[in-house]
Amino acid sequence: MCVLASVLPIDLQVHGRKLRTEGRSRAEVEAMTRYIWKKMGAGSTVAAWTKRLIHNLDAWLDRQHGEMNFYMTQLMSGYGCFGYYLKRIGKRDTPQCQYCGEVDDAEHTLFQCQRWERYCHFMTVHNLVVEIRVDWLLMAEENWEQFSRYAGEILRIKEEESRTRDRKTYR
Ligand SMILES: [Zn+2]
Repeated sequence: MCVLASVLPIDLQVHGRKLRTEGRSRAEVEAMTRYIWKKMGAGSTVAAWTKRLIHNLDAWLDRQHGEMNFYMTQLMSGYGCFGYYLKRIGKRDTPQCQYCGEVDDAEHTLFQCQRWERYCHFMTVHNLVVEIRVDWLLMAEENWEQFSRYAGEILRIKEEESRTRDRKTYR
């Protein structure tokens, strides 16, 4: 549950915690979370990106490998070093990518931004659409680790370069 919780939208996390304090077992809360997740359609409060990415929640929860790290959580939740998110929380005045000028969100960073092209060659070989990429992650531990390393590598660079950019912008 904690692995899932780290990428769940905040309202589902809160709901889960509330159920736990009401004395529900971990298994019960997990079963309910699965149920709610599936019932939530387009326009719900579930972050559309996370839902699109983890399109098969059962496979995600039942996976045999795959520890989430800090950077993977950022990429999968969309809450992190992304222009769109930084603008939303008031840390930037534009949602634009610092490298290419497109709207910068997790999907842009992961799959579209040319800045990271040479880092993500392994992702493009196996995957045509976002939904398939998570299946690929779940297929083998090695794939997961590759992705985990990739996430850490690009987001560390991005954070560092964002700090430099923001220092220049606001000086
Ligand atoms: Zn970009």
